Amino acid sequence: MPPSAPPHADDALRVLSDVFGYTAFRGQQADIVEQVADGGDALVLMPTGGGKSLCYQVPAILRHGRGQGVAIVVSPLIALMHDQVGALEEAGVHAAFLNSSLTGEEASRVEREMMSGRLTLLYAAPERLTTPRFLGQLESLRERGLLSMFAIDEAHCVSQWGHDFRSEYLQLSLLHERFPEVPRIALTATADELTRRDIIERLQLQDARVFISSFDRPNIRYLIVEKNSSPREQLLRFVRDEHEGEAGVVYCQSRKKVEETAEWLQSEGINALPYHAGLDADLRRRHQDRFLREDGLVMVATIAFGMGIDKPDVRFVAHLDLPKNIEAYYQETGRAGRDGAPAEAWMTYGLADVVNQRRMIDESPADEVFKQGQRGKLDALLALCEATDCRRVRLLSYFGEMSTACGNCDNCLNPPATWDATEAARKLLSCIYRFHQRGQSFGAGHLIDVLRGKVTDKTRQHGHDKLSTWGVGADLSEQQWRAVLRQLIALGHVAAEGEFNTLALQDSARAVLKGEVEVRLREAEEKKPRSRMARGS
Ligand code: ADP
Ligand code: ZN
Repeated sequence: MPPSAPPHADDALRVLSDVFGYTAFRGQQADIVEQVADGGDALVLMPTGGGKSLCYQVPAILRHGRGQGVAIVVSPLIALMHDQVGALEEAGVHAAFLNSSLTGEEASRVEREMMSGRLTLLYAAPERLTTPRFLGQLESLRERGLLSMFAIDEAHCVSQWGHDFRSEYLQLSLLHERFPEVPRIALTATADELTRRDIIERLQLQDARVFISSFDRPNIRYLIVEKNSSPREQLLRFVRDEHEGEAGVVYCQSRKKVEETAEWLQSEGINALPYHAGLDADLRRRHQDRFLREDGLVMVATIAFGMGIDKPDVRFVAHLDLPKNIEAYYQETGRAGRDGAPAEAWMTYGLADVVNQRRMIDESPADEVFKQGQRGKLDALLALCEATDCRRVRLLSYFGEMSTACGNCDNCLNPPATWDATEAARKLLSCIYRFHQRGQSFGAGHLIDVLRGKVTDKTRQHGHDKLSTWGVGADLSEQQWRAVLRQLIALGHVAAEGEFNTLALQDSARAVLKGEVEVRLREAEEKKPRSRMARGS
């Protein structure tokens, strides 16, 4: 122990080794433990797998040992409460939880243990914590000096900007109002600047010390590829070539797509299972258990799969659809490589993803301010997808972290060739403008046909071969035009509207039309020969 170590540091280390069997704290854990054990407040931002639990468990044990009573842990995850309480009791720490899974009698027993001050940690769901009855019990504990601290896990749930807003969390500001002298620690793995400010304000943590760990997961290699006409073939090739026989998760947006993809992978000889919230609870549990126990299973899932899944040797996470925003992307890809060994986060991304995500926001019932926030978040994700420089630098800078090119993402490993698409963008925009002048609007397919001068029934019917933009883009492939359009939509110059995704110019398109904005695109990927023929075709 260095001479400058604070007085409680060796107590904390003793707890760490006696109770948890670890020899050293990781990252900022020691500082966080000290802050809270000594009665201060803390806001902890630490990526999943970083070791947040110890940050409140060790102070709770230390404070209980000093006769300060029970620590209350707020958590929305029942499964996690079970696991943690089980593990703590196993390690000789008296812990319990109160949630809807207990019978009345069991709950009464837990309450008695709590009120006696014998419990070290009590886990409770937020909705229980803020009931008058429970608050009354906390008052009584406090009067007797037996309310040692509060830990608020998954603190981003308090923010509308987070991906998992829970209105019960808003009530938790009560804890500070009613028990201002009781130390609080709030923890989350999800916090961009906006969410972070929200957490501080809503939980009244203005005086808390903020601990921000690096969000970098250096063993994860980020790969984002352009969607071709058969994204699932792209996925299959990725799984076969890079991850044969390894465990992975494939995220899809819809339940239907989950089932179809899982079935198709199976027919291609991949050991895949579906998982989504529409499946029978029993089946879901069985699939989850198999994924955790067996080697080399691929789980095809909606985002319903993942919260609280701790499988260390997931070698890849693949996205067939765009996630909602960067936080979601980070969380989902973060399930790969928890063991620290090399892992890959792979995504295939295309025009339809941009259109769909934008539309989901537009059509949601939320108010305009909220939608604006969501659009901003989507834009940040699209910028990550379109980026031609280091993905990790972009990702980390989103979380407020500076870094240098990582050498372990697609763009670092194979710097993409780019081309100046400014002229192409202007052609595309003026073509939409010509339609507009005739009081018409069309979707991507027809637009590209006109640009490439491809005669179809529709171009004939509308006399579009007379347009000044007819055939001005014959030099580019359809794939290249789709990429130009995708970027223009991603940048907000064009919107795809209505049931048929017809294209409309946005105000900002003017600057591009005038040639005031440069549009640079990555060179479309060369068509590689398919490794084998698709079945049945
Ligand atoms: P989080 O809640 O941040 O996702 P956990 O608290 O579940 O992370 O911890 C992740 C894993 O790391 C757990 O298996 C935990 O036991 C382990 N761990 C945490 N801190 C340490 C440490 N100081 N030394 C060794 N292992 C640790
Ligand atoms: Zn990189």
